[in-house]
Amino acid sequence: ILSIRGLRKSFGVKEVLKGVDLEIYKGQIIGYIGPNGAGKSTTVKIILGLEEGYAGQVQLFGKDISTQSAAYKKRIGYVPEMADLYDNLTAEEYLTFIGELYGLEAEAAGEKAGKLVELFGLTEVYHSRIASYSKGMKQKILIISSLLHNPDIFFFDEPINGLDANSVMVFKELLAQLAAQGKTIFYSSHIMDVVEKISNRIILLHNGLIVADGSFEELKNTNSEGTLEEIFNQLT
Ligand code: ATP
Ligand code: MG
Repeated sequence: ILSIRGLRKSFGVKEVLKGVDLEIYKGQIIGYIGPNGAGKSTTVKIILGLEEGYAGQVQLFGKDISTQSAAYKKRIGYVPEMADLYDNLTAEEYLTFIGELYGLEAEAAGEKAGKLVELFGLTEVYHSRIASYSKGMKQKILIISSLLHNPDIFFFDEPINGLDANSVMVFKELLAQLAAQGKTIFYSSHIMDVVEKISNRIILLHNGLIVADGSFEELKNTNSEGTLEEIFNQLT
């Protein structure tokens, strides 16, 4: 479903991706893990067409992203690492707006949003302006907005940022449901926690290069030989 060949990206003189190769198949739950500054968010942004000026090839849904029609975005769910929400809207207005962008029928989108809002315990503030939300509450709105249009593949970039323990549990449950539905999940984080439980494949990125690729058990075993120990120590 996703194929990356020789991906390189520089900011000024600093090369942050130094030749990344990846084949990801439909239904895989990928943990894209690495320390701060490894190049994880940059990779995700390139795949989603949000970062220009790179070398190499990126194919999503079997087609190069540079030749994809805009409609391919409707098949993607994205929780960015950082985002500005429309603070002046209420959560309901915002989620309805997002639903409309995806061409969803207002009633169906509203119903789905309402259920997710309830699941994340936001019902009471659903009609309050997002400006009055805490960081974690805003993060939940980002998660909900990535789910509305029932995409085929998800890119979650540090999705549990700011979430309390209970909300992390809710999110893990959602991930399990998505996995059971055969969705593909690309979960990018510097935290191993959720990833080691839900991923069937962990890709370790370090200084712009993939240094390990396998199940959590496989990586742990390699780790015990010491090669990856230093990188692991930088993760939480
Ligand atoms: P984190 O765990 O902190 O989210 P990351 O693995 O997502 O880290 P990236 O955000 O991809 O890392 O950044 C990789 C490197 O690229 C960093 O050194 C960062 O400073 C640099 N970088 C990212 N975006 C830009 C930009 N727009 N301009 C200049 N440098 C950038
Ligand atoms: Mg990042």
